[in-house]
Amino acid sequence: MAQRFVRVRTIQKQTYYGLLQLDRSVQVLDAPPWLEGQPTDLNLEPDSYQLLAPCAPTKILAVGRNYPHHASEMGTSVPEEPLFFLKPPTTVTADSHPIYYPKQSQQLDYEGELALVVGTRTSHCMPEQAHSRIWGYTITNDVTARDLQRKDSQWARSKGFDSFCPLGPWIVRNLSAGANLQTFLNDAPEPLQSTSIDQMVFSAEFLVSYISQVMTLLPGDLILTGTPAGVGAMQIGDRVRVQIEGIGSLENTVAAPKVEG
Ligand code: MG
Repeated sequence: MAQRFVRVRTIQKQTYYGLLQLDRSVQVLDAPPWLEGQPTDLNLEPDSYQLLAPCAPTKILAVGRNYPHHASEMGTSVPEEPLFFLKPPTTVTADSHPIYYPKQSQQLDYEGELALVVGTRTSHCMPEQAHSRIWGYTITNDVTARDLQRKDSQWARSKGFDSFCPLGPWIVRNLSAGANLQTFLNDAPEPLQSTSIDQMVFSAEFLVSYISQVMTLLPGDLILTGTPAGVGAMQIGDRVRVQIEGIGSLENTVAAPKVEG
């Protein structure tokens, strides 16, 4: 089994990066693994921590219409250059945590996606160098308030509510080029989205290089690589699961709007 890199919070409220073991204990690292974190002799028992999202990005870049069939279902074509936008880091939430349905929206869509985790400070990198800048891979759901996206010319609102970037549950170092990505809703056995990630219009390496010509990517930053065809709405109480072969699955439940307390 591939090594699974996690971020956890202990019951004493300490946050650590670590390696998830087969018995669900966590071997703690002394720094994020992409910053050369080394194993320590601290081992956390399975009932002594909760999983957090596996990284804490300074920024999240997301790519729109990067699968041809999704571009068609949105009534558009594939862009000539990557179309990217930002999601704030406060959108990030962990596996099993709620996605909060905002009161401003009447249509909340799932978008299952592969996320790239950047490992090193990257600026103006060529596509040939980009592979070495991708430290690992994880799963995300680029949750979108579709009605607000249609209404707004900028997507900060429709893509930016708290909890709109479920991420995890862990990061793996390698992924096969033809890995399958699937999205399921509740107990339906058939996926609503299903593709091989090699159907992306712009490859992971191309995206890293392209974005790095604009802004410096920092260790732990995320690139969401776009969603395949089959996007659709979620209702309060729905469970949405995004699965990527070779990583695992990310599951979240849609909850009523969060009340400020
Ligand atoms: Mg998306």
